[in-house]
Amino acid sequence: MTEFKFSKRVPADGTDAVGAILKAAADPRIISFAGGLPAPELFPVKEMQAAVDLAFEEHGQEAMQYGAAKGVTALREQILKHVKEKENVTGELENVLVTTGSEQVLDLVGKAFVNPGDTVLVEQPTYLCALDVFKSYGADFVSVATDDDGMKMDALEAALKANPTAKLVYTVPNFQNPTGRTMPADRRQQLAELAAKYDVLVLEDNPYGEIRFAGQHVPAVKSFDKDGHVLYMSTFSKTLAPGFRLGWLVADAKVVDKLTVLKQSADLHTDNLAQYAVVEFLAHNDLDAHVKEISALYGKRKALMVEGIKEYFPAGVKYTDPEGGMFLWVEVPGVKDTVELFKQCLEHNVAFVPGDPFFAGQPQPGAFRLNYSNAEEDKIKAGMKQLGEALQEAVK
Ligand code: PMP
Repeated sequence: MTEFKFSKRVPADGTDAVGAILKAAADPRIISFAGGLPAPELFPVKEMQAAVDLAFEEHGQEAMQYGAAKGVTALREQILKHVKEKENVTGELENVLVTTGSEQVLDLVGKAFVNPGDTVLVEQPTYLCALDVFKSYGADFVSVATDDDGMKMDALEAALKANPTAKLVYTVPNFQNPTGRTMPADRRQQLAELAAKYDVLVLEDNPYGEIRFAGQHVPAVKSFDKDGHVLYMSTFSKTLAPGFRLGWLVADAKVVDKLTVLKQSADLHTDNLAQYAVVEFLAHNDLDAHVKEISALYGKRKALMVEGIKEYFPAGVKYTDPEGGMFLWVEVPGVKDTVELFKQCLEHNVAFVPGDPFFAGQPQPGAFRLNYSNAEEDKIKAGMKQLGEALQEAVK
């Protein structure tokens, strides 16, 4: 048997805990709130099919040829218009990079800025794939305390003082994955100011911001940025379809240029057909109306889930009640081993993602993430009852 000498970047065997959880949750008997998938019934399949046809008709040769590493110009222009309209994030063409999913932005930022041993400050808890990416580049994490309004700025400032060479602050300010929490405007402004004061970069990851079903829009951290310390990333994955793998970065041109070089090493450029298809989709469809429809459905599903929590969960359980996005976060007091709890819930044919992998440091026992975007209403009702029964039994 060959002993493969993998690099240090490759996680040791057995660390794909989330993969194992999602595999267990994929059993058709199980009602799963574990994944992070959009509602497939709202994918605009017909409209996108027409857009793909148009992409071939109008740009067939360009779509099939190698293309520019920064992305299709028409799409970059549309992205600029979109972020200006939605987030008051402004820039020129040189500030936009189209990426293969916004996941690629995480990877490129990790590659471009994180040397082994560099400090990356993260919310506690945070998006687990971001932890995986930065870990693969050798990051040392410092977890910053959060409350119902996301990352606490006094805790962040203390962490920046204690770690003066920190490279990056990673934040998901809207309807965070995994908690569903949103950071208010005053904190965002403070965050942008702290980034400038301590000369640290902020990576603002905003895949969910447009999926708002209650409350008021909060301005992006990037909209408070005066000197390029904030890198802004988003995606078409939640508003259109994740299968196209189209995300983007808006940042200082110097950052975009360096990341473009690194992107060339990774994949030369993002799929041209997907880019032209979205160009045509945006030109001939009302994305805002579509996003409204998605938000309305997710709002309905979130409400059902919260009703289920109130009706069936044990007393004393805490939960977030998000105003958008796809996830809420539950904390069950008295539970010591959340993975064990997960296994007990599987026996009741219902699944979630235990909170543990979302923590860079010590996990919070009894915390887990529930996804409400993907399950249909009858499944949510039945699944929450089963989950309630499982939790009642577990805390007995
Ligand atoms: N950031 C966050 C916080 C996410 O939840 C996700 C998707 N799960 C991504 C980035 C990556 O999304 P995509 O590559 O599909 O744009």
